[in-house]
Amino acid sequence: MKNRKYIPIADISSMNQNIQNRKKLLECQIVERQNISDFMIKLWITKPTDYSFKPGQYCTLGVEGIERAYSIASSPDEEYMELYIELVEDEGILTPLIWEMSKGDIFTLRPKAKGIFQIKDQTLKNYLLISTVTGVVPYVSFVRSFMNENQNKMKFHILQGSSYFDEFGYLEELQEISKTNQEHINYIPTISRPKDKRNENWKGMTGRVNLIVDQYIKDNDLNPENSIVFACGNPDMIIDIHNNLAQNKGFNVIEERFWK
Ligand SMILES: Cc1cc2nc3c(=O)[nH]c(=O)nc-3n(C[C@H](O)[C@H](O)[C@H](O)COP(=O)(O)OP(=O)(O)OC[C@H]3O[C@@H](n4cnc5c(N)ncnc54)[C@H](O)[C@@H]3O)c2cc1C
Repeated sequence: MKNRKYIPIADISSMNQNIQNRKKLLECQIVERQNISDFMIKLWITKPTDYSFKPGQYCTLGVEGIERAYSIASSPDEEYMELYIELVEDEGILTPLIWEMSKGDIFTLRPKAKGIFQIKDQTLKNYLLISTVTGVVPYVSFVRSFMNENQNKMKFHILQGSSYFDEFGYLEELQEISKTNQEHINYIPTISRPKDKRNENWKGMTGRVNLIVDQYIKDNDLNPENSIVFACGNPDMIIDIHNNLAQNKGFNVIEERFWK
């Protein structure tokens, strides 16, 4: 009797919680993987029956119990969920595991998509959608969904910043759709390291996305009455946009930080 080990009640309840959470997890399978660069991939994963999401929401994927949030690029009516993922090389935990995965491999999936980074008010004229790198993902879902629903009064102004132009995984799609729907979509990709050799073939805009935004607002007559701002991705960019556009200029800014 003396040697019997007792598990504290708090531990039992957290063990039960873990078992319950594990039971509730769904599974999804990779149906396609596309390598965009050494550090960027697109994945298409199966959508379990009854799994649903709204444009702008994220899913929570797991491998070996390690879970992370990923925004969904597809529109809800597409067969598969499309993801755009960046490898976090040194500090990352899940992304190095994802880099080893390919078609047929399985993730766990939390049963509900989450997030309030959504377009709730569809009555405005302008939606200024600012992002860095993978932060463009929810905007791809907005564009695909709202183009499908033909919301013809809304205009999306998508500003995407990146160090290198090979990180613009949706360049062709967004440029093409901007050309054919000029009234509703304007896509401005901009790179912050124009002198780097990796960018020598870039012919587009240069400068950090948070630094080109003021001129863009001026040129396009955006103001807090006719516009709403979304900012997604790098937390430093978001803080800067918040201070500049929300605090100083009175815009309503909706934010989604991908890390702290
Ligand atoms: C709501 C939400 C949606 C997200 N959507 C996406 C998405 O669509 N695509 C995507 O690639 N990631 C997305 N992320 C980030 C994702 O959840 C992971 O944090 C990321 O993939 C890194 O996972 P990891 O386990 O390898 O590293 P983590 O253990 O998550 O992070 C390790 C360290 O790296 C930092 N870090 C995390 N991500 C980055 C990054 N991209 N660049 C630089 N430093 C970083 C963290 O601050 C942390 O200190 C999203 C995060 C949130 C909260």
